[in-house]
Amino acid sequence: MTAAPRPQPGIMDIPLYQGGASKIAGRDDVLKLSSNENPFGAPEAAQAAAREAVGDMQLYPATDHAGLRAAIAEVHDLDPDRIICGVGSDEILHLLAQAYVGPGDEVVYPEHGFLIYPIVTRGAGGTPVPAPEHDRRVDVAAMLAAVTDRTRLVYLANPANPTGTILNGQEVTRLADGLPDGCLLVLDGAYAEYADDFDGGLALAQTRENVFATRTFSKMYGLGGMRVGWGYGPREVIDVLNRIRGPFNLSNVALAAAEAAMRDREFVTRCRDVNREQRARLAAGLRELGLAVDDSAANFVLARFAHEEAALACDAILKEHGVIVRHVASYGFPEALRITVGDADGVDRVLEGVAAWAQ
Ligand SMILES: *Cc1c(COP(=O)(O)O)cnc(C)c1O
Repeated sequence: MTAAPRPQPGIMDIPLYQGGASKIAGRDDVLKLSSNENPFGAPEAAQAAAREAVGDMQLYPATDHAGLRAAIAEVHDLDPDRIICGVGSDEILHLLAQAYVGPGDEVVYPEHGFLIYPIVTRGAGGTPVPAPEHDRRVDVAAMLAAVTDRTRLVYLANPANPTGTILNGQEVTRLADGLPDGCLLVLDGAYAEYADDFDGGLALAQTRENVFATRTFSKMYGLGGMRVGWGYGPREVIDVLNRIRGPFNLSNVALAAAEAAMRDREFVTRCRDVNREQRARLAAGLRELGLAVDDSAANFVLARFAHEEAALACDAILKEHGVIVRHVASYGFPEALRITVGDADGVDRVLEGVAAWAQ
């Protein structure tokens, strides 16, 4: 027997990513509120486009994603040549690390930031550098203080997951302007569509050489299972990423669904309106039941309990009610549950479950 090959340094330091659970044994009425998916599913137009594209499954897909990039560019008023599409925004985050980070390089992100940031950093051989947050808000001064001459990337989700808090445009601009030459700010806008009057940093990415914005079809657009995301940034960065991107990374079906979803603006407006309303109901109801909840700009809220045992007990009772939420200990909040905003019935079910726990 020969020895198994040894992975590159850093890879065995990566804990396996745990997705939100989706099943409860013995129940068929499960309400999954653990992965911030759209309670209304995918737009009809996207489903129809995907069904049609199935007929072309023997053909290789476009390598340049021209149709999808054109739709994104039209809707967001962007230069299509500065857009790259990936297998979820996850792939874009991976490509950025692969292209710009190596052994000895550092990557800064907020301490409660998305778990993918340290994963892609270690995968590229780099060193993850979490910067402290304050009161569950990203602290720009602390982020800048964590940056050294070895920092290549700064990842920032805005609104943030799992806190739901948001940095205003001034603060994000201050962060971008404070970075040294050669360090790229990656603005992860996975929840940007849910925030009011917010462009997810696209305008900043339009005008700066050191800002790159990512977006996803997994949340607002209801296409989590299709795996489509995109990024917008400086031409040079797009060119670099396209050299390492798999030429056929997105399937015909995924491309067709995403393009149709992007063009369905009415769906986006409707989902945003419902989310705003139900998010307010959910937060108010949880606060009435004695939990601490920050104002959220996303499609979930972080409900904080007195201690971890209380959070776990409530989680167990919610499961008895058929509701799956996310205990976010791995994000540094053992005392909290992250709860996706459902439709009105979904919010009712959560509040009933939490009320049963509170008694
Ligand atoms: C859900 C999420 C994403 C989206 O990932 P995809 O690969 O596009 O599905 C990106 N960033 C954050 C912070 C998220 O919560």
